[in-house]
Amino acid sequence: MTVQVSKSVTAIDKINLDAPIFDPGAFRLNDEQAGIITTARELGQTVFAGRAAAYDRDAKFPTENYRDLHRTGLLGIAIPKKHGGLGAGYQTYAIAAAEIGRYCGATALTWNMHVCSTLWSGPLADDLDMDAETRAEHERRRAVHYKRIVEGGAIYSQPFSEGGAAAAGGVAFGTEAKPVKGGWIVNGKKIFASLSGHADYYGVLCTEIAEGEKASRRNTLYLALPAKSDGVSVVGDWDPLGMRGTVSRTLLFKDVFVAEDAALMPRGVYFQAAMRWPHMFLTLSPTYVGLAQAAYDFTVRYLRGEVPGTPPVKRRMYPTKQIAVAQMQIKLEQVKAIWFQAVTEARANPTKEQVLRAYAAQYSAMEGANEIATLAIRTCGGQAMLKSLPLERIYRDSRCGSLMLPWTAELCLDRIGREALYETGESDE
Ligand SMILES: Cc1cc2nc3c(=O)[nH]c(=O)nc-3n(C[C@H](O)[C@H](O)[C@H](O)COP(=O)(O)OP(=O)(O)OC[C@H]3O[C@@H](n4cnc5c(N)ncnc54)[C@H](O)[C@@H]3O)c2cc1C
Repeated sequence: MTVQVSKSVTAIDKINLDAPIFDPGAFRLNDEQAGIITTARELGQTVFAGRAAAYDRDAKFPTENYRDLHRTGLLGIAIPKKHGGLGAGYQTYAIAAAEIGRYCGATALTWNMHVCSTLWSGPLADDLDMDAETRAEHERRRAVHYKRIVEGGAIYSQPFSEGGAAAAGGVAFGTEAKPVKGGWIVNGKKIFASLSGHADYYGVLCTEIAEGEKASRRNTLYLALPAKSDGVSVVGDWDPLGMRGTVSRTLLFKDVFVAEDAALMPRGVYFQAAMRWPHMFLTLSPTYVGLAQAAYDFTVRYLRGEVPGTPPVKRRMYPTKQIAVAQMQIKLEQVKAIWFQAVTEARANPTKEQVLRAYAAQYSAMEGANEIATLAIRTCGGQAMLKSLPLERIYRDSRCGSLMLPWTAELCLDRIGREALYETGESDE
């Protein structure tokens, strides 16, 4: 069991710090990793957990949490140390994000969009091929972005989805960047753009396309477009089932000039990353591993009569409750095991087995979180699903995971089935 429970039945309102989701000793994490992950967990439990209900109720962006992420250095978690960041690699980031997701799903999910702008342009880009001149230029440009984040607390988002087949990786992005002197003119529309109206820079995925050219995925650009640029607007409302604090409204770009230095990756490097570094698309899953843990933690505390604000009524003595908790614990350990393995082997040019495992890990985390939350509601009973307690929010938030492109639960099934049965280039013709 990963929850530290109160020693005394009378000390019900006393909050002990939760045990880590991944114990550093058991999962062989070093002291530096454990330190960063502990910062995330403590911030999540002591500060974010208390604010989560209001962000959810009002569908309000967690601005105050972002100030705390900046204050604790976590806004720059994946920024290399030489640029003033914490220098965390993929695995450390993923586990820290799971700890944040345990206490506030919307903060963890939006933090992922922000962190990806540094993870993809940082450790991930360092793994990819660039000639020396391109790498030097990339180094100069990313220093600009990293300084804004580390020193100024700038927030980046990652609008990717457009409502067509582009976000699933099928075709080129419909948002277009026309090259002009000193930069590009960007036109397009992004749906479900988390952090809309709250990010300082929108990390837009778009297609570079000159007059008369055909759009190609090879020409994808990743540009940090300043939110205050002329021609940028945020439209539509945001009143969804779950992940309400993400404020994922629609972004419109109308003849927006974006300077060359806005590039988060050099030309051709995003396409190379999508081909050679597939785990880049697994970073939406940590939030949901955290939610799975949260649903389990809640259930154990509730059945022990130890949830603050509820009567100290124990329900743990019924065999049906014990069986349900056992089922939840087994599912949680299954999710944790495959997910930990997948985030540990994130790298350039993974083997076919590692790619299939990454899809399976994404599927397991996204569907597993909701299965565990569903069991939690049934097991704890009616009083536990009141809005005054976190479980019903965890349940709603957990339902959103399997919808996240490009690796929705359905697309993971499609890819695993196809790629397990066909080698590259094989067909039945
Ligand atoms: C809370 C939340 C926050 C989000 N934040 C962001 C964000 O910050 N940035 C961002 O870019 N996006 C974000 N998204 C968007 C998300 O990734 C999807 O793009 C969005 O949910 C729209 O998807 P859809 O299901 O309507 O898409 P559709 O493309 O209409 O897909 C519908 C379903 O069909 C299936 N499908 C799609 N394509 C294929 C295919 N080729 N083959 C087989 N099946 C397919 C998928 O399972 C998909 O779920 C967010 C979504 C949510 C719910």
